[in-house]
Parts: sequence; C-alpha cells; structure tokens
Amino acid sequence: MLDIQVKNKLIKITGPDRYLDRPEELACYAYDAFVVEALPDAVMFPKTTREVSDILKIASKFKLPITGRGAGTSVCGAPVPIQHGIVLCFSKMDTIIEVNTRDRYIVVQPGVVNGDIQNALAPFGFFYPPDPGSMNTSTIGGNIAQNAGGPRCLKYGVTVDYVLGMEVVLASGKIIRFGSKNVKDVTGYKLSSLFCGSEGTLGIITEATLKVLPKPETVKTLMVTFDNLDNTANAVTDIIGSGILPAAMELMDQMTLNAIEDSANLGLNREAQGSLLIEIDGVKEACEKEMKNIIKKVKENGAIHIQEATSDKEREKLWAARRSAYGVFAKLAPDIVSEDVTVPVSKVPLMIRKIVEITDKYKLKAGVLAHAGDGNMHPMIPADRENKEEWQRVEKAFSEIFQAAAELGGTLSGEHGIGLAKSSYLHLVMNKDTIDFMKTIKQAVDPDLILNPGKFV
Ligand SMILES: Cc1cc2nc3c(=O)[nH]c(=O)nc-3n(C[C@H](O)[C@H](O)[C@H](O)COP(=O)(O)OP(=O)(O)OC[C@H]3O[C@@H](n4cnc5c(N)ncnc54)[C@H](O)[C@@H]3O)c2cc1C
Repeated sequence: MLDIQVKNKLIKITGPDRYLDRPEELACYAYDAFVVEALPDAVMFPKTTREVSDILKIASKFKLPITGRGAGTSVCGAPVPIQHGIVLCFSKMDTIIEVNTRDRYIVVQPGVVNGDIQNALAPFGFFYPPDPGSMNTSTIGGNIAQNAGGPRCLKYGVTVDYVLGMEVVLASGKIIRFGSKNVKDVTGYKLSSLFCGSEGTLGIITEATLKVLPKPETVKTLMVTFDNLDNTANAVTDIIGSGILPAAMELMDQMTLNAIEDSANLGLNREAQGSLLIEIDGVKEACEKEMKNIIKKVKENGAIHIQEATSDKEREKLWAARRSAYGVFAKLAPDIVSEDVTVPVSKVPLMIRKIVEITDKYKLKAGVLAHAGDGNMHPMIPADRENKEEWQRVEKAFSEIFQAAAELGGTLSGEHGIGLAKSSYLHLVMNKDTIDFMKTIKQAVDPDLILNPGKFV
C-alpha cells in the first residue's frame, strides 16, 4: 500500500480514473505469460510524456519501484512487479503520430499494438518487419523493451534493427531524445541499442520512430513434412548453408503438429515427425528460382509431403496453424513454459536432439517449435506448477537445456528476453566482468534502482 500522501500526489497527475489500487484491479497486472506473479501497489495509465515524467519524479523522490507494462504478453516475467510499487500501463498512449513512407518511417506512442502498425502501413504498400507471434496484442513499448523478434526476422532482423529514434523518460523524470528520422545516423553512442532489450530497467519509452519497408512483390509459402526430426533439422542447415535466405523457416515437431490439429483441424499430417513452414519473398523471378532450389533441398533430406500455398487464404491458414502453437499448447496443462535458447544454425540438428534427450530423461511431455532458420528454439513444456515434483523436473530440464545451448556456442534467449526466468543463468553465456559492466550502466542511469527492480541486472 502506498502512503496516502504519495497516493494523492500521484492522483493529482492522472486524476482518479487512471489510478487503480483495489486488490481485484491490481490482480490483473500481477502476471504475464510466465509463471511468477506479484501484486503492484498501484497501476497508473499515463496519457502523455509529461505525465510519465511527473510520476517518475515522485517515484524517484520516494524510491518507489516502477514497472512498465504493454500488453503483458512477455513469457519471461519481465513486466511482473516483483518488488511491487507502481505499474505504468501504456494502453492509453496508443497513438500513431506520423506515417511517412516517402522517408520510410513511422512515429508511434509506446502502447501502439504491433499489428496496428502493420494495418496502418498496408494501404501504402509498406510493412514493419518484426512480427512476434503476439503481434496482434503486444505493444511497441514491450517489443522494444524485449527486442522482440518473430518468424520473418530470419531475413529482416529484430526490433533493434528498426528503431531509428526514441524518446525516453529516465528514473529522475528527465526526458531524453536520441536517434532521428534518418536511416543513417552515427551521432554519438547508439543509445537505441542500449534501450532495446533493456526490459524497462533503464528508462521508460514514451515514443519511437521506426524504420519501415516496402512490401515485397511476391511471397511464396511452403509446408513440408518429414518422417524424421533429424531430416527436418538437416534440411534447415542445408537450405541456409546453400546461400538461400528465406524470410521465415519455422520448424514444428510431431507433438506440436498434433496439438494444433486437435485444436484447429487444419488437415496437417499427424504422422509427420517434423515439419517446416518456409516462406520466401522478393522479386517474382528470384522467388521462383529460390523455391525450386528449396524444393530440391527438402527432397534430398527425405521430405514426405510438400504443399505450396496457392492463394493468400491458404497461406494465411498455414500461418494461422503456426501462430496458434503456443495457445494450443497452453491448453494441455494449467501452466506452460516456453524457452528460446538459440544456437548457430549449423547446430540446430544437435540442439533439437539434446532437447528431446533432456525432456525424455525427465519424463516430460515437450513440443519443439523453432524459428529454425536463425537457430532460435522454443521448447515448450506444458505442466502444473502446483505439482511440486513435476515442476522440479521442468526446472531441471530447462537448466540442462540452457547448459547444452551454452556448450554449443549458443545463448539463453533469441527474442523472449531474460526477465525473471533466466536471470540466474546469465553466467553461462557472460563472464563476471561483463555482468558487472551491465550493472555499472544500470547504477549510473538508475542509482536508486527503481526501474523494474529484481530483473536480470
Ligand atoms: C502467444 C505468444 C507468442 C509470442 N511470440 C513471440 C515472438 O514470436 N517473438 C518474440 O520476440 N516474442 C514473442 N512473445 C513474447 C512477447 O509477446 C514479447 O516479448 C513482446 O515484445 C511483449 O510485449 P508486451 O507489449 O506484451 O510487453 P509486456 O509483456 O507488457 O512487457 C515486456 C517488457 O517491456 C517493458 N515495457 C513495456 N512497455 C514499456 C515502456 N513503454 N517503456 C519501458 N519498458 C516497457 C516491461 O516492463 C517488460 O519488462 C510471444 C508471447 C506470446 C504470449
């Protein structure tokens, strides 16, 4: 509970309608899509940068934790207010400020949903490449804070590659602006890279200028199934190794295919041990040539069924299957843990074998879903956190999966971030001096440690 005088000061900023502190209201902001929950003392809905700045000045004076929140779709506990304090929810800062396709940028407030950006750009024949599976819900503030990726990031890169400029409110309440609307800008430190992936621990994002691209002339989509998971993974490394760069290359194992089929009845091959959803885009002639080469490669790796989408409707159906994977898995048990270890693409077959070996060892039902073309694995384990014995096996399995990824020269997270889920594993991929360097930055920017405390740094 906040001190009544502090509460009154905060209410003065937004008015009582945008300040919540009843337990039943706070409960809605206590969780994300991970498995840890914590109640904030209050939730506020700022509408302007000035309001954010005024709230942070008070938070700084009274040393109150501040946790930013977009849509709460993080899968690593990043927006969970583990040390309580105030949650700043950005659902009322959701304006698209400017669309400029001539100079190829869009300016947005942090609460704008990724999918709304795509819809705003579509009439101009443009798109914003980062496409997290949560794109119809998750916000740009959350995407930047997590440096989100998605299927087509294989070819196009992740959020950090598209942030041209930002406005950020620091813990002190000071407002800083960096970057610009220029595609090229090497004026000073590349601060957008520092804030991308910082999980709200360095500052609160109140505006972003994002690079946008013209839509490719042609898109071709292929669903390929295999009777062997090794062959599926080997096809990935063969295609990438041959110099073809698809826009997306998504791998699903048999359990994932069946979970989708049980839920959506899309006609997927239930017998297949593995599948690849491959998409290429670009100039028509180049796409046709690449598609031929891809088909040759998957056949060489024992593909049993190849289906090319012949219309936008068919293409959308294939993608709907892929996007529903997390949701259908979440129905299999009270909880679901989905991780995203990432390895060099040549190690994809080995890492998949390791994941299967480890989850079998701990007698866990697990599905493998991967943005396989960039080595980003999403092992998903449905389980029940109330079942202590089972939960211990889940934790041990993930600990070994992180270790295995590190041993293969991989990393803990390709896109989901660290949050609460993986902070105790940083040492596997970073030495102490590197972790200390991040702490030095945090201490310099937020000396009272009020911004999203208790997270990875
Ligand atoms: C079904 C499903 C599919 C997903 N697919 C993908 C995927 O393909 N790729 C991927 O990368 N992720 C994916 N995710 C994870 C998640 O959607 C992303 O991490 C997303 O970027 C989170 O956005 P959000 O708006 O929900 O942010 P939240 O979850 O609310 O917050 C995430 C972090 O951002 C911080 N934050 C939010 N707004 C601000 C702000 N204005 N200023 C400073 N910090 C802020 C929060 O404090 C927190 O640390 C998926 C999640 C689900 C549930």
